[in-house]
Order: sequence, then C-alpha cells, then structure tokens
Amino acid sequence: MGPIPGRREQKKMQTATRELGHFINGTAHASASGRWGDVYDPASGEVQARVSLAAVADVDAAVQAARVAFDGWARTAPARRSAVMFAFREALRSNMDRLARIVTAEHGKTFDDARGEVQRGLEVVEFACGIPQLLKGEFSENVGTGIDVKAVRQPLGVCAGITPFNFPAMVPMWMFPVAIACGNTFILKPSEKDPSLALEMAALLAECGLPAGVFNVVNGDKDAVNAILEHPGIDAVSFVGSTPIAQHVYTRAAATGKRVQALGGAKNHLVVMPDADLAQVTDALMGAAYGSAGERCMAISVAVAVGDATADAVIAQLRGRIASLKVSPGMEPGAEMGPLVTGEHLERVRGYVELAAKEGAQIVVDGRDADLPGRGFFLGATLLDRVTASMRVYREEIFGPVLSVVRASSYDEALALVNAHEFGNGVAIFTRDGDTARHFDANVKAGMVGINVPIPVPVAYHSFGGWKRSLFGDTYVHGNEGVRFYTHLKTTTTRWPTGIRAGAEFVMPTMK
Ligand code: NAD
Repeated sequence: MGPIPGRREQKKMQTATRELGHFINGTAHASASGRWGDVYDPASGEVQARVSLAAVADVDAAVQAARVAFDGWARTAPARRSAVMFAFREALRSNMDRLARIVTAEHGKTFDDARGEVQRGLEVVEFACGIPQLLKGEFSENVGTGIDVKAVRQPLGVCAGITPFNFPAMVPMWMFPVAIACGNTFILKPSEKDPSLALEMAALLAECGLPAGVFNVVNGDKDAVNAILEHPGIDAVSFVGSTPIAQHVYTRAAATGKRVQALGGAKNHLVVMPDADLAQVTDALMGAAYGSAGERCMAISVAVAVGDATADAVIAQLRGRIASLKVSPGMEPGAEMGPLVTGEHLERVRGYVELAAKEGAQIVVDGRDADLPGRGFFLGATLLDRVTASMRVYREEIFGPVLSVVRASSYDEALALVNAHEFGNGVAIFTRDGDTARHFDANVKAGMVGINVPIPVPVAYHSFGGWKRSLFGDTYVHGNEGVRFYTHLKTTTTRWPTGIRAGAEFVMPTMK
C-alpha cells in the first residue's frame, strides 16, 4: 500500500473534476490539445465534469483508425455485423436506466423522458439488426440474350456524425447503427454539452464484439467539426443541429467532396381547428411544448388557433394546466419538466420572453415568475398570446419552454402561415373533420405531419427529416433512406463466354 495522502491531497482528490476524453481504435485516447469545456449539472448549475476539446490531430487519429478498420469490417458478412447489433440492443436494454440517468444528469430532462429517448434510439438498432435483408439487391435475368444485371449496395468508407445536445443518446443512434450495419466505420462528434453518452455507447459496442476502430468518439467543439469537414479521409457526414451550422456543414462537406445530410432547426406549428377536442389539444400542447423544457426539434412552439373563440378556450385550459406543472430536477419522482441545458441557454430563452413583451405579444404566463427550484437552470412554462408572423419570437427558434399562440381567422390563413415559415420540420393539425385533415396533409410544406398527433416522430423503420431550411441534403435519417445514405449503388452487367464469342460491337448496346 502506498503512503496515506495528506489532508491537502485528500481535499484535492475530492474536488478533482471528472475528465472526459475520446475513444479511438477501441480504447480511451488522451488529447494533446490542452483545451477543455465545462459539462454542467443543469439541475444544480454546477460544473460536474470537463470534456477534452479535440485538436485536428485527434480527428486525424480517429480517421486513421477508422480507415484501417474499414476493409475488414466491410468484408465481414452482414449477418455477423447484424449479430453485433443484436448484442448491442440487449446491452442497451440491460443498461437502460443507467444510461437514462446519465442523460438526465447532463441534459436535465426528466428520467422517464430520458428512458424514452434511449428506447427510440434502441429501435433504430433493432432496424439495423435486419441489415442482411435491407442490403438484399436486385437481379434482372436475361436483359439481353445471355446478359444478366445485378444491383447491390456497398458501404461508403469512413462516415462521421455530428450531433446536438438535446438527444445525446437518440440522435447518434439515428446514425451509427445503420452506418455500421451497412459496413462503414464511424466517427461520432457528440455535443460538448453532454458528451458522456457517446463514450458509454462506445464502451458497450466494444463489449458487444465490435472490432477496434469501427466506432470512434471524438469530443470537441467547432474545431473538431471543421477538422471533420476538411479531412480527405472521411467519405460522408451526417449532421443534426441548428440551421446556421447545418448550412455551414452542408456547404463545406459538399465542397470537400463528401456525401452529406444536415438536419437543422425547427419551429413546429400545431393548428387547432374549432371542431377539435380541446381537452385532447390541451394535453397535446402541454406535452409537446413543455416536455423536455421545449428543447426538442419536434417540440410544438406555435399553436395556431383558428378563430378567437378557439384561441380563448385553448388559452384558458392551458393556463390552468401550467399552474400545476411540476418543474423540478429530472430525477425527482413526478417531475414533468426539468431545467434548461446551460446557464447561457437559459439566459437566451429568458431574453426571448423579454423580447416578446417588447414586440407587443401578450405574456399570459411568464415562466420567469414561476416558483422554481432554488438552484439550476430552471425556467417555468411560458405562454404567449397574440404573437404575429412579423415578430422575431415567431420567426426564430427559441428552443425553450415558450409556447406562442397565433390567432388565424380561417383554415386557409393557418395553412398559409405554416407554409410561409422558414422551417418545415414537423407540423400537426387537430380536427374531427376528415376533409380538412386530408387537405392539410396533402398541402402542408413540412417533412413530418401529425393528424391529431402532436409530435409525429417517425418510427425507426420509416425515415426522419424536414423540408425547407430544416434539412440540407436529399436523404433523410434512418429507415430505408438511412441505408441509401450510407451505401453506394453498384450495378453489374454480366455476360458469360457464349455471348462473348459474338465478337466486338461498335454501336450502343440495345436489347437483342
Ligand atoms: P448546435 O448547432 O449549436 O450544435 C450542433 C453540433 O454542431 C454540436 O456538435 C456542436 O459542437 C457543433 N457546432 C456548434 N457550433 C458550431 C460552429 N460554429 N461550427 C461548427 N460546429 C459547430 O445545436 P445544439 O444547440 O446542440 O442543438 C439544438 C439545435 O439542434 C436546435 O436548433 C434543434 O432544432 C436542432 N435539432 C434538430 C433536429 C432535427 O432532426 N432537425 C434534431 C435535434 C436537434
């Protein structure tokens, strides 16, 4: 046994901050960058860890490892790749509560909500388990005499994923299970605000038998992102985050010759028709606007009430429900809404509430006045009325527990409002009328539509993505679109010796 540490050393050990590094080539990787970011506990407002912010050399080390691993992994039979995914699914299931606690500790969302996020990610892993079936190609026999054509999908190479803070488990799992199952190797650059989940998933994948170098985690900020975008050894980039960064990623990654899908921000509307079941609408709005403190890309941040009577009734019901909303640390039993992710983000959202008043919106419930836990980055649910299309609080994504009510005089006006917005991620309509619902579904300009469903996040075997400035690129994430994104199409035309005996031909081949 070594010497017993003195009191000063003991104190230092107690206060030593936990350090989060990188995971490269199947093992922990220490960076030489010397740069660190703080990771907060949003419920207490205190720094709980610090995360290494990668330098260009760290990204390069991950690319080298992923490149070396690629050949062997791409040649591994799809059924064997799928076996790793089956094992990973079981690992996620048996570690579900532990992983959800980590999400709550770093993001702040409630424990039940965090479990839901891990579950939605796990469902993509289940989809990826079916990769032998998903990669089955096409075959056409005898397209010309003695000539056959087959088409297969082959992996791209090294793929990178850059993800936001709001779903540290689910959004990475929109990407890497499909990419890896397709035979690619992967580098994940998670959000520096809640980086632990990525490292946890890397450790679990290694335990499940994934070869070293197939899945790597590089923590960092914009420097790591830009190193990924510039690196010639990376073949494809998937990004999820805010629209300005999505556009930057799309532009740079395309300029350096990479395949790219970049999902951006949102301002999701829920249209309330006068014939809707208002109790159902109120339930839907409470969950969709204030769940996860509004920090969801599919959160409803605008309720478009058709007719003043509808608006007045919805607001009256919401006001009562907000008064009893339980805002508390996410691990507390019965918690319905936790804190925002950082103090900086809290200040930004509070700034929007102040701006709403200046712009002439009516603050029906001001979350800044709510009875909140003493410490941490909390803000109460906020309800704004008489918001108009010209206000910044309407045009911009607030990404907090702030719901704006916009009053429309007709269905046509409501639809036109939704379609004129810069973003087109998710949208919902609540009505009892089938004609209205069908018209809305056919004519609304958004990627994901809910009919009496407030948050229409597609299940894992469909694909997720928005329209307009909510998505840059042309392939959505997970489902069949994910398989297409992470593979090249190869079409082979074959003729065997009897055909070749026909001799050289100098005209364009046509069917004979
Ligand atoms: P963000 O854009 O700030 O960060 C996303 C990623 O980009 C992070 O990994 C971050 O490190 C990196 N990044 C940040 N600034 C950068 C810069 N200047 N240059 C290069 N990289 C940079 O987003 P966020 O705050 O973490 O997440 C919230 C946003 O993500 C919201 O806008 C939300 O709507 C969006 N989001 C969209 C979807 C979707 O599916 N469309 C899903 C989840 C979140």
